[in-house]
Amino acid sequence: MVKVYTIASGKGGTGKTTTSANLSTCLAELGKETYVMDADMGMANLGIIMGMEDVPITLHEVLAGNAKVSEAVYEGPCGVKVVPSGISLKGFQNADPDRLRDVMRELIGECEFLIIDAPAGISRDGVIPLAIADEVILIVNPELSSMVDALKTKILTELVGGSVKGAILTRATMENTEVSKQKMEEVLGVKVIGIIPEDPNTRRSAAYKSPLVIKYPDSDAAKAYRKIAANLAGTP
Ligand code: ADP
Ligand code: MG
Repeated sequence: MVKVYTIASGKGGTGKTTTSANLSTCLAELGKETYVMDADMGMANLGIIMGMEDVPITLHEVLAGNAKVSEAVYEGPCGVKVVPSGISLKGFQNADPDRLRDVMRELIGECEFLIIDAPAGISRDGVIPLAIADEVILIVNPELSSMVDALKTKILTELVGGSVKGAILTRATMENTEVSKQKMEEVLGVKVIGIIPEDPNTRRSAAYKSPLVIKYPDSDAAKAYRKIAANLAGTP
């Protein structure tokens, strides 16, 4: 059975792209046929942090009706299949988010997991990934503004007929000024399915255009991502 997870948060910069890249790489490392798609079409970052920023055909061309989905699939670490978005504004303008559902249908014929990196905000291209996933995973930082935006994303997901699996608390330092896991669960009304610590290796790995779990496999954040992936894959 294919599982489609959309990685969303409402707020920008919470760690959606980092989480999409690392979870999908971990799932592939576990032997699962995994695709990861960059649905943040305006601020496409997934290809950049996975070393595919200058590929000729991206999701933009597919959504503009100028290329086939299979032409926009590139192999990443551990065999994860990456569908990057383009980085040009012109490409973004020509891409039609209403075609995302068709792209997803084509990809799910091929895989066991499809991870969708969603944009921030509540624009049309942001809402479609919430509706088309089997389940949405909320990426939240331990601060009030992030929690409020995640709650809005959860409500929006349910409004469009989607459902939320849980939240991943990222960039946690465990300082006592942070919103706690318990508080987060109480306010969001969903389980926190993993905690990723604040880890400077995350930024370093992005500079090397390689996911953290590959570049710094023994880092605390990499270990935390592997644990979440094992749970999603049912192989803890
Ligand atoms: P989003 O996709 O939600 O906008 P990103 O994944 O691009 O967020 O992350 C935003 C920034 O935060 C990036 O510079 C990234 O390297 C950094 N970051 C993400 N997760 C962590 C972490 N656990 N520790 C430290 N920095 C992180
Ligand atoms: Mg992003």
